[in-house]
Amino acid sequence: MSEQQSTLAEDESVLLTSELIRIDTTNTGDPATVVGERAAAEYVAGKLAEVGYETTYVESGGKGRGNVVARLAGADPGRGALLIHGHLDVVPADPSEWSVHPFSGAVQDGYVWGRGAVDMKDMLGMTLATARRFKRDGVVPPRDLIFAFVADEEAGGEYGAQWLVENRPELFEGATEAISEVGGFSITVKDGVRAYMVETAEKGIAWMRLRARGRAGHGSMVHEDNAVTKLTQAVARLGTHKFPLVLTNSVREFFAAVTEMTGMAFDEDDLDGSVAKLGAVARLVGATLRDTANPTMLNAGYKANVIPSVAEAVVDCRVLPGRREAFERELDDILGPDIEREWVTSLPSVETTFDGALVDAMSASIMAEDPGARTVPYMLSGGTDAKSFQALGIRCFGFAPLRLPADLDFTALFHGVDERVPVDALKFGTRVLDRFLRTC
Ligand SMILES: [Zn+2]
Repeated sequence: MSEQQSTLAEDESVLLTSELIRIDTTNTGDPATVVGERAAAEYVAGKLAEVGYETTYVESGGKGRGNVVARLAGADPGRGALLIHGHLDVVPADPSEWSVHPFSGAVQDGYVWGRGAVDMKDMLGMTLATARRFKRDGVVPPRDLIFAFVADEEAGGEYGAQWLVENRPELFEGATEAISEVGGFSITVKDGVRAYMVETAEKGIAWMRLRARGRAGHGSMVHEDNAVTKLTQAVARLGTHKFPLVLTNSVREFFAAVTEMTGMAFDEDDLDGSVAKLGAVARLVGATLRDTANPTMLNAGYKANVIPSVAEAVVDCRVLPGRREAFERELDDILGPDIEREWVTSLPSVETTFDGALVDAMSASIMAEDPGARTVPYMLSGGTDAKSFQALGIRCFGFAPLRLPADLDFTALFHGVDERVPVDALKFGTRVLDRFLRTC
């Protein structure tokens, strides 16, 4: 019976992931053109209701911005609940670039293919399959589990997690810890030995508008107060500036764990060089060593022979936990007094410690399925809904377990062409999640 149920849940996770991919939930970032979240939420609600869950459907700040939340009561209501959250939306995909249609959910060559296969309909499929199995089998987890399937993560959660946290916090009542993307996947560090990256931190997101003002004038004249010149000089200074190396706890612990596993040393004088030796994961880790400020948009002028009085730029800043004030001081030094700056979007960093019973349960459930492996903490340079949920005092982790082939460039698949997830990884992840949620 139990083995049969296990196989059933594993197979179901593959089917559910594929079916979720077939529901196009493209989030363009423009609320007017977002599609499919309602359909996906209703699909999830249907799958939960079918096995006996009571579900709550909520639209978060806009028509069709569908979210579903369900609870499974645990043995000890006195313990805080564990929130398992995942986003229903995906980033756009251009079918002409893909080997298979991005919304086909094709299961072929050992992979489930399509937009969302790793970000993050894979985790939705595994979570849903496990939730269904628990209900069918009458499993009582040690603590309450809250399953939340939410809208709008790919545009920052204003019409999803952020809205829910601000307007419907009672849905997450009692939650003290959470798991979601981006973590739990394996990297092969040495001779087939795997490390599973658990996300314990995220950089903050700060999108900034810069503005320089000058004197308008004729393009044929000698002109010493040109807004475009002032702005571009400042943008160039900022874009080429290297912020100081800061080893946060998550990054330090990641290095220590990899050193323990491989003997590889991370020389603080040449950290960028050492990180480069990590292979595919270098991209992920390399971006968490220092703050970054990348200019992304420029805007000035309207005619070739008119010097405009204003010039503007947008800069994408990513700031390490604990660095925000120092970062802003450094910005002011680099930009100088002539440049005005304002925040367009500002989302906090996230950091928790890699310890405690929940982390032990993660590690044990991974090792039960992959003996010899270990879990290691790391910091994500991007952002997830953890930024919203931490506002409720919830400790957030990225733990969506997948055992991946050593040669798969996994991080390149996020928002990439031919996004796909190995069928075996989904089955593995479903077994790990099952064990984890029974022991959390
Ligand atoms: Zn995601």
